[in-house]
Amino acid sequence: MGSGTAIYYHPGHEYNLGEMSRTLDAARRYYSEWFKPFPWQELKLSEFPGLAGYAQGFPTDITFSEGIGFLTKSDVKTDAVFLVTAHESAHQWWGNLLTPGEGPGGDLLSEGMAHFSTALLTEQVKGNQARMEFMKRIEEKYGDSRRADAERPLVKVDGTHDGDITVTYDKGGWVFWMMEQRLGRERMLAGLRKFIADWGYGPDYPVLQDFTAAMRPYAPDPVAYDEFVRQWFHQVVVPEYQLAGASANRTPGGSWKVTVRVKNAGSGRMPVAVAAVRGDRFTAKGKPEPAYRDARATVVLGGGEEKTVEIACAFQPQKIVVDPDVQVLQLRRKAAVTKL
Ligand SMILES: [Zn+2]
Repeated sequence: MGSGTAIYYHPGHEYNLGEMSRTLDAARRYYSEWFKPFPWQELKLSEFPGLAGYAQGFPTDITFSEGIGFLTKSDVKTDAVFLVTAHESAHQWWGNLLTPGEGPGGDLLSEGMAHFSTALLTEQVKGNQARMEFMKRIEEKYGDSRRADAERPLVKVDGTHDGDITVTYDKGGWVFWMMEQRLGRERMLAGLRKFIADWGYGPDYPVLQDFTAAMRPYAPDPVAYDEFVRQWFHQVVVPEYQLAGASANRTPGGSWKVTVRVKNAGSGRMPVAVAAVRGDRFTAKGKPEPAYRDARATVVLGGGEEKTVEIACAFQPQKIVVDPDVQVLQLRRKAAVTKL
């Protein structure tokens, strides 16, 4: 039905076939380019009755409950059909072509990577706003369902503790995304291709320590990379940014100067952008809004640290937004915005 893809479904369940088929085609095409060429003839998706509500990816065949793809109503905010198809397709690479080792951290290489792949595919197919929405949603899920007092580092997560699921999927997807930001897209993808090529056929199966060691040669700054790995893979950190004392003043030259106190009330030391903005960034259809303006500064704050940030603006700003591009995992993102 698609190009190198097919969907087997129950007659009458045609509602979402177009979206599923387009997503399956895009997944096959881009995951092949990014990670490893899909080695089989056909990538297919088969429906099963709603006796169970999951989807699962076996080699070449993704099985889907009717309840989560075929009969779901998708809307712009949740986009369930696209996201589930993108995630399950990603398991052809992260799970099948690369089988993680059994042991702490192993599942991050299938579930966290499937979420990371979904973020990449969302950006590729639907644009940056859709990618930001997806990441905000999994970030909220992590914030809501983590067990802050018992959370373990990624390398120790083995699925036996409360809260391990959201760490494996949601935080995992985020940490791989942040790693991609440090390395750059091309280096990250080159590292992932080499990792699958080296480990894909066994006889040894990798866990997270093998992964972070394999990616290190692709880091432009190995010292910064080691620090990133230490914080996000071997410790439990998560920033929480707070804003205070925001003001915008006209300068004698006719432009504007924004001043705001930014605090990291959480933990973890990450560079984060702070933007003074005017107008809506995207149209109702998710396209960039031409009238939108922003001016930015970058601040690096460890846990408990705060700094005054100044931003020069050529326009009159309306709001201050921390991390406008949704690149740093954090708690209570909605509170890291203030009106001017
Ligand atoms: Zn999965």
